[in-house]
Amino acid sequence: MKFEMTKYEGGWIEVIVGCMFSGKSEELIRRIKRAIIANQKAIVFKPQIDNRYETDKVVSHNGISIKAVVVNNANEIKGIAENYDVIGIDEAQFFDNSLINIVEDLADNGKRVIIAGLDQDFRGEPFGIIPHLMAIADSVDKLHAICVVCGAVATKSQRLINDKPASYNDPTILVGSKEVYQPRCRKCYNKPIKVLN
Ligand code: ZN
Repeated sequence: MKFEMTKYEGGWIEVIVGCMFSGKSEELIRRIKRAIIANQKAIVFKPQIDNRYETDKVVSHNGISIKAVVVNNANEIKGIAENYDVIGIDEAQFFDNSLINIVEDLADNGKRVIIAGLDQDFRGEPFGIIPHLMAIADSVDKLHAICVVCGAVATKSQRLINDKPASYNDPTILVGSKEVYQPRCRKCYNKPIKVLN
């Protein structure tokens, strides 16, 4: 990484973004584990919506994991986080606006806050509160994956439903369909076209 936070006087917000399979969770876990080695009190939160793999852990795609507290909303983070020095938040794109003030308050109170999330949704559009978090952060790292089609640097998350690129109007959750995500470069990414009804 081009930047590594080791001391956090006065608080600090770090944001780790990227497409699917860019190693965001892995990087979050790495930073948290280094803080724990330095005897800092660290905790990781994740939203309830993500039940990929195990629910009480953040697990990266390469199998590295760390214990996580699953919360239903951002307000649940507030009370618990006050007792820690370093606060990790994974899959932050699934939290609502209330996370923004909570994160700023924690940093203003001297906490180091490390946030990981998808910067773009499958439509290639800014994902929820992530753009706002990137703007107020003290440090932002945008990670890349490798395009599964051509091997170039990938920044897009291609959503495939039954092996075909998803269309813009497809709902976020589809029952009874085979759905996968692939990291793709700008050239190989099929940008979903908006269908006007
Ligand atoms: Zn490509």
